[in-house]
Amino acid sequence: MVYRMNEKIIDGKKVSAEIREKIKKFGDILIKESNRTPGLAVVLVGENPASRVYVKNKIEKTKEVGFNSIEHRLDENVSEEELLSVVNKLNDDDEVQGILVQLPLPKHINADLVLDTIKPVKDVDGFHAENVGKLWSGLNSLVPCTPLGCSILLKKLNPDLSGKNAVIIGRSNIVGKPMAALLLGMNATVTIAHSRTKNIEELVKSADILVAAVGIPEMVKGNWVKKGAVVIDVGINRIDRDGKKILVGDVDYDECIENSSKITPVPGGVGPMTIACLLLNTLFTSYEQFGVAPIKLSDIFE
Ligand code: NDP
Repeated sequence: MVYRMNEKIIDGKKVSAEIREKIKKFGDILIKESNRTPGLAVVLVGENPASRVYVKNKIEKTKEVGFNSIEHRLDENVSEEELLSVVNKLNDDDEVQGILVQLPLPKHINADLVLDTIKPVKDVDGFHAENVGKLWSGLNSLVPCTPLGCSILLKKLNPDLSGKNAVIIGRSNIVGKPMAALLLGMNATVTIAHSRTKNIEELVKSADILVAAVGIPEMVKGNWVKKGAVVIDVGINRIDRDGKKILVGDVDYDECIENSSKITPVPGGVGPMTIACLLLNTLFTSYEQFGVAPIKLSDIFE
């Protein structure tokens, strides 16, 4: 049976639109109180088509919530030194509260060095080592946008995951690892699987919450999913099916919806949450940088 519109679907498009509305509301208050407008700078290196699409969407949504968008498009062959100099200028620019360097970067550039050059307070992607350390220590920090979006979707279903088993497939710094820290913070018992893990299928069968962030189209099959599990599909994979190019996730949606109690579709699940959370991080850090009484996630979601 194919489900498309039913109560099992976690509608990331709808939730993200609600979040962006709240960001606009709190952003307007901030602009009025501080007489300053939050600025989000995006640095794009090269012509990667997927990155160009992401950046275009980010810029559009930034303007929609009333923030300033600052764009730097650099040639594929830009030197590391030149890129670092752009980041340092943005670090010192009072018009810029958030800096995002779009990944992946060309091979001749040390991405870790670039990310660690961004001032931690402007690190709206949450990739700086200082923010990573704070996240794992349970301290207030800027949190990577995709796992933050997943955790907001999960919190709306159940804010306390005590006694629940969470399995994450994927251990990247962008998704898998920060997702584990967030799930621990929600009291789940967390297991991370990766390419060297044996018997992934058995592990997934034990999951009350499954987060798939692998990059393998429809890897998770319907009979891997425990009855009643919540399935969060982070994957975005472009494949050819029946002569058409379509987007699918890392779980086989039409199969996995059967056993799951809730599931995110692709597209329209986690994807739109990522951009909303980027703007959320920009809002949080702008409150901090403008010296206006800070706001918290709970203020946005009350
Ligand atoms: P990475 O390629 O950085 O990480 C993939 C992870 O999956 C790695 O930890 C890898 O293990 C693991 N893996 C690979 N093959 C297997 C396997 N056969 N069995 C188990 N684990 C495996 O990807 P990202 O984390 O950046 O992204 C994951 C997916 O999420 C992609 O589809 C990406 O497009 C999507 N994505 C979506 C976003 C959104 O906004 N919705 C944002 C970011 C990513 P190992 O470490 O051992 O190599």
